[in-house]
Amino acid sequence: MTAAFASHSRRWAYYGRPNIMNTKGTIQLTSWGLLISILHANFDGLASPACPKPPLAAEGDGSAVYLSGKRVTALQCTKESITVSYTDTHTNEQESIEAELVIGADGVHSTVRRLANAPFTERYAGYIAWRGTIPENLVSQETVQYFSDHLSLQFSKRTYLVCYIIPTETGNFEPGKRLLNWVWYYNVAEDSPEMKDIFTDINNEQHHNTVPRGLVRQEVWERCRAAVLPRISAPFQELLQKTSSPFVTKIRDVICTSASFCDGRVVLVGDAFTTLRPHIGVATEQAAFHSNTLEAVYRGEKTPEAWGLEVRRFAQRIILINKIVAELLGQCSLCLNRSCPMPYLLSNLSFNKYKVDVLYFH
Ligand SMILES: Cc1cc2nc3c(=O)[nH]c(=O)nc-3n(C[C@H](O)[C@H](O)[C@H](O)COP(=O)(O)OP(=O)(O)OC[C@H]3O[C@@H](n4cnc5c(N)ncnc54)[C@H](O)[C@@H]3O)c2cc1C
Repeated sequence: MTAAFASHSRRWAYYGRPNIMNTKGTIQLTSWGLLISILHANFDGLASPACPKPPLAAEGDGSAVYLSGKRVTALQCTKESITVSYTDTHTNEQESIEAELVIGADGVHSTVRRLANAPFTERYAGYIAWRGTIPENLVSQETVQYFSDHLSLQFSKRTYLVCYIIPTETGNFEPGKRLLNWVWYYNVAEDSPEMKDIFTDINNEQHHNTVPRGLVRQEVWERCRAAVLPRISAPFQELLQKTSSPFVTKIRDVICTSASFCDGRVVLVGDAFTTLRPHIGVATEQAAFHSNTLEAVYRGEKTPEAWGLEVRRFAQRIILINKIVAELLGQCSLCLNRSCPMPYLLSNLSFNKYKVDVLYFH
């Protein structure tokens, strides 16, 4: 089963000029839906259009059950065990389960983090991300050609966009059937009238973090993109013009200073522990790093404290790289000086020197 395809170079566009340089750098590109189907097939054998024949359980695998629609509401930690209370979102019934270990992998707005009283800071980064996907067959051949085989970056005045091709959620990698996935970083002040306007949806509801696809007001999207269209190259213009249903998210840094609680029996992983900005696409890498390294704690090869230190260091390093990338790409707007070392510096700084495996998806 193919999970992703590799892109080996980056193409840089500057204002109206679509191709000012190419730099090398390998990344894996995939779609979130496909990835989750593969993980599910391996975890509990769930068959899906992407993975119609999940692998059979190997000897000694144990059993795994994935219960969906259960919203955790409380944790009670005693010396003997931990009681996890939750609501069944279909029946609204309250239920509970006894656990020896609770891994809070419940994302950016983690309930487990709150219930464990984990110390954390949360800060709006100063910009939001507009995102969209368009089937390849809805854009011109020239535009598909332009975005094929590269990760493409478009710079303009204090803003930038990124676009790359991804497979469909069902795992279709065939040219002509894939999707163009883009993200556009857009500066907007916190609590400003513009922020309020963008995060008010078609039903006049105010969203705290994300306006989902289908709920963004058309006039808001048209106004925002109209301002940037004259300042970007033709392939990126076509992307924005042909995206009728984008979604928009505030970019935040959420950072916990501790990852384990109740003598190491409650731990936070992934976005629940640290929510990273999306610039270098390693948030999933971080979640995978947590999962892979946590095993050593329960094998008795590492203390929870040593593990906590390791994951904090990983997070701090990526937070720093993300801030540098955001500052350089978003604020200084590449000069046209061919000897400017910034693109090379960024490629090496973020992707190679720190040996970060980058996985971009939608
Ligand atoms: C639009 C978008 C694009 C992204 N692109 C990339 C990318 O290209 N590359 C990359 O590496 N990362 C990307 N990320 C980040 C990436 O998705 C996250 O880092 C990753 O999903 C974190 O995994 P997680 O398991 O920690 O949390 P999540 O994937 O957020 O999963 C949390 C789960 O917990 C559940 N949950 C929440 N509260 C409760 C509760 N009280 N009880 C029970 N369950 C609960 C949620 O329903 C969800 O299923 C992107 C994120 C977004 C939003």
